[in-house]
Amino acid sequence: MSQTRKSTKELIEDMLSEDAQRIWSASCGIISLGQNHERIMELVPYLTQMKSKTNNIELGGLIHPNSRFLKKAFEVIEWHSNGVGCSCSLLGEDSNPRHLEEDGYITITDTVYMNNSNYIDYYLAICQNCQTQYKIEEREYHSLWWNWIIAN
Ligand SMILES: [Zn+2]
Repeated sequence: MSQTRKSTKELIEDMLSEDAQRIWSASCGIISLGQNHERIMELVPYLTQMKSKTNNIELGGLIHPNSRFLKKAFEVIEWHSNGVGCSCSLLGEDSNPRHLEEDGYITITDTVYMNNSNYIDYYLAICQNCQTQYKIEEREYHSLWWNWIIAN
């Protein structure tokens, strides 16, 4: 997902809304800012409140339980709050390498296609911040997801 257009204030309001749809949407927004340290730090003071307000909300989702996104959103905020090292360690199944390159966080150095097809098998990319190299397999299971593997 590309970085959210929502403001920090909107993300906080959505997270505290007790509305499952808005919480899910804000969780995805927060995950999309995973490499944006300044934006995530603005959310850190609200973490405890967000956790208690979302504690008993049933988020639903059959194939990909939406609580997964909420859990990941909290993980992102906690990482930036205590984190050492590079935030690329947060990259995972929801992290679209093409969007990350557009936002200037990684550089894709190679794109490898499946045999005789237009389907992408994997990308090779390098983190602009820490120079870690990744192999990123592109897979589809109901929706696109990516498997990030450190390659150096
Ligand atoms: Zn990095």
